[in-house]
Amino acid sequence: MEYGELLAELGKTKLVAVSKTKPVSAIMALYVKGQRIFGENKVQEMLEKQAELPSDIEWHMIGHLQTNKVKYIAPFVAMIESVDSLKLLFEIEKQAAKHQRSIDVLLQMHIAQEETKFGMNLKELVEVMEYYTAPGKPLGHVCIRGLMGMATLTDDEQVIREEFRTLKQHVEFIRRGYLPGENHFTELSMGMSHDYRIAISEGSTLVRIGSLLFGDRS
Ligand SMILES: *Cc1c(COP(=O)(O)O)cnc(C)c1O
Repeated sequence: MEYGELLAELGKTKLVAVSKTKPVSAIMALYVKGQRIFGENKVQEMLEKQAELPSDIEWHMIGHLQTNKVKYIAPFVAMIESVDSLKLLFEIEKQAAKHQRSIDVLLQMHIAQEETKFGMNLKELVEVMEYYTAPGKPLGHVCIRGLMGMATLTDDEQVIREEFRTLKQHVEFIRRGYLPGENHFTELSMGMSHDYRIAISEGSTLVRIGSLLFGDRS
């Protein structure tokens, strides 16, 4: 799909251009059209591309992240969308503090029917939020900006819609219960190439789109 056409359709929903497996030339082709947010799912690949590309690119980590690799991306990453444990959050806190910065994160929720997809359940989400909002601000170098989720890979629109709706309800539940009066917990990252239209209609603020923009990954 043509970039301008997609942007027009997205309106105020932000686009994360998922450039995994694609060369830096493909990223530059979108960069010159004004795209700044790019998503990668592997640390090594993000590092290689970041070193070669303009420094005003906002890199979003969207793939499962091992704690021992946080240190490599901590100096520059704009957002880690795939935080799925308190342990990982502790490590991000530690590395962000080392670099005297605050790192924006999203908590990844498991909303799909497939067992294989990563993410937390509601109980784990509550545990993280209890800790995050504990007195003394124990996580002073991470800013939890919202939630991320991937719907079931299915042609059944109703299933996808229900899962996105659940994710949005989780955001509202957390805002009301843990962050009343604060306005930084606002992001809802949901929607990919095959389901972004449903996601937008369910209130997505960030869509993560790869193949629709860059072509299929081999
Ligand atoms: C690859 C990937 C995407 C983009 O998928 P497309 O179907 O190519 O749009 C989005 N989110 C995550 C977490 C991904 O790994």
